[in-house]
Amino acid sequence: MAGQSLRLKWGKERSPLLVMADRLMHEEPQSMPRSSSDSKESPSSTPIVTKVSTSPSPFSAFTPKIVEKRWDHNTEPLTQQFWEKEGLYKFNVNSKKSIFTIDTPPPYPSGRPWHVGALAHYAQIDMIARTSRALGYETLFPIGIDRNGLPVERYVETTYKIEMRSQDREKFIELCAHALDELEAEMVGLMKREGLSPTFANKYRTDGEDYRKLTQRTFIELWEKHLIYESTYPSNYCLGCQTTIADAEIIYQEKPTKLVSIAFKVKETGEELVIATTRPELMSSCQLVIVNPEDESYRKLHGLHAVVPIFEREVEIRPHPGAKREKGTGAVMICSYGDYHDVTIFREMGLREVISIDERGRMTEAAGQFRDLTVEEARRKVVDELTTRGLVRRILTISHEVPTCERSGNPIEIIPMKEFYLKQLEFVPQLTKIAKSLKFHPETHRQILLDWIGSINIDWPISRRRYYGTEIPIWYCKKCGRANLPKPGKYYRPWRDPPPFKKCAFCGRDEFTGETRILDTWMDSGISLLYNCKYGEKDKRFYRRTYPATIRPQGKDIVRTWLHYTVLRCFQLTGKKPFTHVWITGMGLDEKGERMSKSKGNVVDPGPVLEKYGADAFRLWSALETSLGSDYRYSDARVAGARNTLTKIWNLARFISSFPQSKTARLRPADQWILSELSHLTKRCLEGYKEFNFFIPATELRDFLWGSFASHYLEMAKTRAYGIGFDKVDQRAAWSTLHTCLKTMLVLLGPIAPHLTDSIWRKIYGKRSIHSESFPSTVWKETYRKYTRALVDFNSEVWKTKKEKGLSLSSPIDSKVPSALRLFEDDLRAMHKIPSP
Ligand SMILES: [Zn+2]
Ligand SMILES: [Zn+2]
Repeated sequence: MAGQSLRLKWGKERSPLLVMADRLMHEEPQSMPRSSSDSKESPSSTPIVTKVSTSPSPFSAFTPKIVEKRWDHNTEPLTQQFWEKEGLYKFNVNSKKSIFTIDTPPPYPSGRPWHVGALAHYAQIDMIARTSRALGYETLFPIGIDRNGLPVERYVETTYKIEMRSQDREKFIELCAHALDELEAEMVGLMKREGLSPTFANKYRTDGEDYRKLTQRTFIELWEKHLIYESTYPSNYCLGCQTTIADAEIIYQEKPTKLVSIAFKVKETGEELVIATTRPELMSSCQLVIVNPEDESYRKLHGLHAVVPIFEREVEIRPHPGAKREKGTGAVMICSYGDYHDVTIFREMGLREVISIDERGRMTEAAGQFRDLTVEEARRKVVDELTTRGLVRRILTISHEVPTCERSGNPIEIIPMKEFYLKQLEFVPQLTKIAKSLKFHPETHRQILLDWIGSINIDWPISRRRYYGTEIPIWYCKKCGRANLPKPGKYYRPWRDPPPFKKCAFCGRDEFTGETRILDTWMDSGISLLYNCKYGEKDKRFYRRTYPATIRPQGKDIVRTWLHYTVLRCFQLTGKKPFTHVWITGMGLDEKGERMSKSKGNVVDPGPVLEKYGADAFRLWSALETSLGSDYRYSDARVAGARNTLTKIWNLARFISSFPQSKTARLRPADQWILSELSHLTKRCLEGYKEFNFFIPATELRDFLWGSFASHYLEMAKTRAYGIGFDKVDQRAAWSTLHTCLKTMLVLLGPIAPHLTDSIWRKIYGKRSIHSESFPSTVWKETYRKYTRALVDFNSEVWKTKKEKGLSLSSPIDSKVPSALRLFEDDLRAMHKIPSP
């Protein structure tokens, strides 16, 4: 900043001009409303610009460049059109700048409406992109839609009241694609309206031919690295989705469950052994009874046999620490399979599994008289039968953690299925190392990933018995049965198309059957980064410049799925960690702090919110409301509050736009003071931006704007800016300072409120978008901040006195400027109409 030298020219004498200014100021309309930082709820009702049009007076010499009296958020789409026309956010891989790659989460059109929380999440991801550009990076900010997997299939099934398996596969896929197109259009519309800045023209879809080609390529590569195998293994089987699912897709839900105490008979002694279970229908699969080894009363039973009621099968009784006294009676039946504890014991003891539940969720032949019943029906009937036989000792309703499918909410059964697995167990040490080396924002969320990696005890089942997903690229030889894989580089549909090879690589026969299963959807979305970095393409330049990514932004709810699988997939394929930073947000809740869900009826539709308040108000709200990583609540009133802050900026900008920009200026102490504060603001904002914590710049800017700047500085400098009572040099200093403050505030607010700031910028500072500007690096000395407290106190004191005396703010008052503020005496006298002594 030029002319920082302090120049005190205003003497003690009252000039005739000041007398005139005093008179004029009496006629001035109500002064700027002064507000503390919390006045975001009570906006300026009297925009300062009303003064500008007061005529005839010296004010009329100044016409604001900004004509519109109010910030109209309906102009936001117009601003977006400028961005698109100017190609403002196009990524240039040949740029000389450093590259900043964002691994944007591709949203999933699940058929459920997007709620405000989801949109706030994407607004913040956009702030990351805009921040990186303002920090001087060339930014790769991809956008895509995740379109594979169960939710859309279920959406189609419920919408058309059909069942996937009774449909022609091709037809069903068409219905899904059609539904996805509609849902996607709605989502993309919202993302655009919100002002996101990826290159929408390059939007990708995970069900696109190119994308699926890449997913299949990675499958083939990992197959060749012997990281994929097929095995029959007790699997999580969702009865609703009728497919195997991964551990990561299971949610444990507390549900009231009946704990039934059943009388077994000890074969050798005839005595009664009471066993409590929540799964009586699995008695037909019972192969062992374990008792607590510490329990003296059971000691005499070790090695004897229990007779399973109804089925009259004899099973051994063994001591095992897995039988806990606090759960039930301390005697437990081990069945194939009630839970993973059963799976472990079956393996440990080498027991033969008896499967009582099939893939349709019905009882098998092993269940005898309960055959073909559903699990629920069988449970009831078994208890009835036991009651009839007088074998039920007690029924307790307990709260039990039931494993349910994350997608459909159905209970999970553990059923042995032959599935493909991707190895992950042997990668746990490397995954842990990577998890420890990533920079987490906030740091606390690292633990979610570490805990998950620490809990992995099985490889990842990746095959699904569904239709809408990336096909597993395998054809099986009809003679030798072996799997033949095609060469990568094409998209294959083995369930439909003939193989791209003539003969079996193992026996030379020429007849094949295509694989019908598809891949788990995380196999697709886990490589969104590799797709966007052009992994596997001939020209490696793009990949080398963009991978690994700088940052992975995502929600807290998909750490164990999307984050974990991405790290695993990318590490297995590239040998590198996929990104440097991981940025994790909390969840958007309703006003009462509850999760939004259709069933509760508390989902807030973002469309009407954007329509009512505009994108920038919504974005500013989201920055003000969310402390990084924590859950946050949506509140309409608070979005309205954010809009008031935008209105305030518009009004201030309009006022400042009345004055010419002055290149050089000899600053007065008041100017030096606000620039000190501005410097501090800049520093704080940059600290926040560099941590991708938008709460910091949003709050600092709001507080500066309503506080130091509008309430104090502006009031001090206003008369000087109009040239009343001060000479031209001082007047220019005010102009210069006002514009410096405005420009700096706008650039600092750019990533959060991109429309308003750009709109103002183009009107005052030229045609080039504000989004081509870098964050301010020029900082002014903060020395004058030492006066802040005294200035604020003095002004507040004067306002309070005037109020008590029933004086308007523009009335003269007799007061004494404290000696500590002597430097500011002239400005303060002008501000409060304090006559010279
Ligand atoms: Zn399911
Ligand atoms: Zn063969």
